[in-house]
Amino acid sequence: SSSTSTQKLKTDRSDALMRDAATVMPGGVSSPVRAFRSVGGSPIVFESTKGSKIVDVDGNTYIDYVLSFGPSVVGSANDEVIEAVTAQARKGLTFGAPCELENQLAHAIIDAVPSVEMVRFVNSGTEACFSAARLMRAYTRREKIVKMTGCYHGHGDSFLVSAGSGVATLGLSDSPGVLSSVAAKTLTVPYNNIDAIREVFRQHGSEIAGVFLEPVVGNAGLIPPTREYLQELRQITRQHGALLLFDEVMTGFRIGYSCAQGYFDVMPDLTTLGKVIGGGYPVGAYAGPREIMEMVAPAGPVYQAGTLSGSPVGMAAGLKTLEILRRPGTYEYLDRITKRLAEGLLQAARENGHAVCGGSLYSMWGMFFTEGPVNNFEDAKKSDTAKFQKFHRGMLERGVYLAPSQFEAGFTSLAHSEDDVERTVEAAREVLRGIA
Ligand code: PLP
Repeated sequence: SSSTSTQKLKTDRSDALMRDAATVMPGGVSSPVRAFRSVGGSPIVFESTKGSKIVDVDGNTYIDYVLSFGPSVVGSANDEVIEAVTAQARKGLTFGAPCELENQLAHAIIDAVPSVEMVRFVNSGTEACFSAARLMRAYTRREKIVKMTGCYHGHGDSFLVSAGSGVATLGLSDSPGVLSSVAAKTLTVPYNNIDAIREVFRQHGSEIAGVFLEPVVGNAGLIPPTREYLQELRQITRQHGALLLFDEVMTGFRIGYSCAQGYFDVMPDLTTLGKVIGGGYPVGAYAGPREIMEMVAPAGPVYQAGTLSGSPVGMAAGLKTLEILRRPGTYEYLDRITKRLAEGLLQAARENGHAVCGGSLYSMWGMFFTEGPVNNFEDAKKSDTAKFQKFHRGMLERGVYLAPSQFEAGFTSLAHSEDDVERTVEAAREVLRGIA
């Protein structure tokens, strides 16, 4: 329509850089979602970010709801975080040996996350998840892992598996190069469906090492669980001697300071973390009770190591980020502005005759272009992705940067102001008016 097509974003420099990038990096990117394949058009190349804003190489400024896919919950390039990492960088970038900041960040995490007694630091969420799977298998002396369709746990071999049809499906890999013998050990069930879990444990119970899930799904768009679902998962895994793992790489320190497990008051055996705990640096962690964690080398036999694990600059960034989050009112603020954003977007869509559903939880939000309800990935896939594509482009043209996929959660930060939210909703109203 005229109202969206009159807007034109200047992207000459982004386009030129992406053309060059494609000649030296597969797909021109370092991680696939950045290639804009599900929204079309050429990706935007960025130059700087501060607070709630991000600036591209053509000089366009956007309100940023991606925030590097989650880490920047205190606002991008926060001055206090920059100061902490700069001070640490002057003292050393990496030791490959113990440093005091590791103790401090481990204590901060243990104090915050109710089920955690010990922490092992790694360099990404991917590493945290595949290491935790190894530990889970070693501890239970079982090999099968249950995961939920639409949940993402990084690109470890065991997790690049999705189901075919059926309630509980044996794994086939989504990616060439994954050993079929590994994929076959991953069982996949739909999220928020307790019958599917009962069935998979009825069939495979004695062979299941544990269940992996995002306690609030962010990687299929935002999909909250019911509390009863998490409670039943806790009960069923315990009954069968399997471990329950909450992948809180995305939800950790976003769904409250005690993370999703504190918010829903359901305690997993193991927890994986990433994103926020590195404050913008590559830090991940897997964590749990002493009895399980002491199986990790060198305390125990389960091997896992890393040249840059626990390196001081990332620890400093994570520590300062958590310190800021502990200040009074932070989560109330995040919850309030994010709710206002999500409700504003839903209203703007409905006013213009679009079927949508969605919502928010603290600093995570989502809107699906389907009437809903969306309780799992199967429901989410009913979304009108062609409409999302137009919405994404229209918002970009009006200075709002959204994740380039219908199946990603949105994020906010302490730096997002009420004015940012109002401007975003107003932009959405204009865009949604112009979309058929
Ligand atoms: N687990 C969850 C829930 C995630 O959202 C992600 C990343 O998006 C990962 C694991 C993988 O983390 P990373 O990208 O740091 O390897």
